[in-house]
Amino acid sequence: MILRLLTLCGLLVLASCKPQTAEMPDAPTPPDTPQAIIHEEYQGEEPTEPAQTELYEPVPPTVDPFGQNGAPSDAIVLFDGSGFDQWIMTRDSSAVTWHLNEDGSMTVNDKTGDIQTRQNFGDVQLHIEWRSPAEVQGENQSRANSGIFLNDLYEVQVLDNNDNPTYVNGQVASLYKQHIPLAKASVPTGDWNTYDIIYHMPEFNEAGEKIKSGTMTVIHNGVLVQDHVEIKGTTPYIGWPKNPPHGKGPLRLQDHGDNSRVSYRNIWIREL
Ligand code: MG
Repeated sequence: MILRLLTLCGLLVLASCKPQTAEMPDAPTPPDTPQAIIHEEYQGEEPTEPAQTELYEPVPPTVDPFGQNGAPSDAIVLFDGSGFDQWIMTRDSSAVTWHLNEDGSMTVNDKTGDIQTRQNFGDVQLHIEWRSPAEVQGENQSRANSGIFLNDLYEVQVLDNNDNPTYVNGQVASLYKQHIPLAKASVPTGDWNTYDIIYHMPEFNEAGEKIKSGTMTVIHNGVLVQDHVEIKGTTPYIGWPKNPPHGKGPLRLQDHGDNSRVSYRNIWIREL
């Protein structure tokens, strides 16, 4: 009896070990599995030695990442606290009347209008720091609202959103009314925020039609909040995004006109 039971148990164990795939129908073999797709650059006879796939030129330039007051050595320093040399008033290209502070920052001078760089830029990497005033005032879109317009046209929102809900496609670090940020990564009100922005211009044909959308990537205090999003057009307060043909343009900072008291500091840009 014991022997019979042991034999039965052995048969059961064997049955459970039987490969189950043998009962499954053959899986279809896709003609182009990911492993089989080789980039056109790498067609031809496959190298068999490591050195055959090692490049020694072009040699990338060497950049000191902390070359000029913390900015990369190949960056254009747009504002380091010493003055407004690189900036003009948007309305009439006159000298900037925003406040230059002793701590190396600048603050929006309410109802004087936007400021913009003298120089025009296309594809860029931008670093900019901003702060909303510790003394809270206003709510919704009227609490420390400013903005950073890439190419003079596309606004990355600046706003004190802490305990201050608003429409999410207009909240802090939104591409205004186009792309909701992936997260709200603000520091406490009154502390300095950083934005690191990578912008690529749209492309237009000779007829002025857009043939390739621009893109925007935004990192807010080290957190990715806009991930190479498609710029659908301009970022108006009212109406649809528009796509006027354009070339390079200035970087513009917004005076929202409602006593925002937003400050900026440490602004540098690298042309890409
Ligand atoms: Mg704004």
